[in-house]
Amino acid sequence: MNTVFWRKSAQTYSQKPLHVKKTQGIRAAKQVVAREIMVDDVRVVFTPKKVKNINIRVKKPDGHVEASAPQWMSVQELESFIKKKMPWIRRRQSEIAQAVHGLEYEASPKDVAAWRTQIEERTKELVAHWEPIMGVRVKTLAFRNMTSRWGSCNPKTGRVCINVQLAKYPPECLEYVVVHELCHFKERKHGARFKELMSHYLPTWQQTRTLLR
Ligand SMILES: [Zn+2]
Repeated sequence: MNTVFWRKSAQTYSQKPLHVKKTQGIRAAKQVVAREIMVDDVRVVFTPKKVKNINIRVKKPDGHVEASAPQWMSVQELESFIKKKMPWIRRRQSEIAQAVHGLEYEASPKDVAAWRTQIEERTKELVAHWEPIMGVRVKTLAFRNMTSRWGSCNPKTGRVCINVQLAKYPPECLEYVVVHELCHFKERKHGARFKELMSHYLPTWQQTRTLLR
């Protein structure tokens, strides 16, 4: 039996919107750079351009909207345009959400192979480093391209499985997942004792965890 100890949460908008005054014209920005507004819960990144019409696209993986808008247009006008397009945006977002949660989002077999090579090497080093410190022994290491969890383990068989998608995250994330799985060799549940163990070995684990949400 393979135990799933944790799951990725649904994607969230990670960036806070810039606070753009509603009356301000798009061109008011000194430089022509992308700016952001929130329309309902949709993050809209827009760039003023020498275009006649507003072009919008819904982007992977988080479903935010990218817009190029005529320079003369006000933020308010852009906002009401986005509002009118909301049914279309919602449809595109749900299509994207399905694709992202489907298997191997935009990952070619070549991508996955490259991630795997990298993760396999780094994980072996990390396990070799942490085993003597934590006094645990991993018997089997497995690597998979998974969409719903970062890692899993079975303390009875000594098997640890690591998600190769961690290759896309900062190195401390892999270390956090490895230490997390190794902690399960000492404590199965995620209770107070587990958290104490995590804090003992990796005092910054809570900060690192936020990078994986
Ligand atoms: Zn866990």
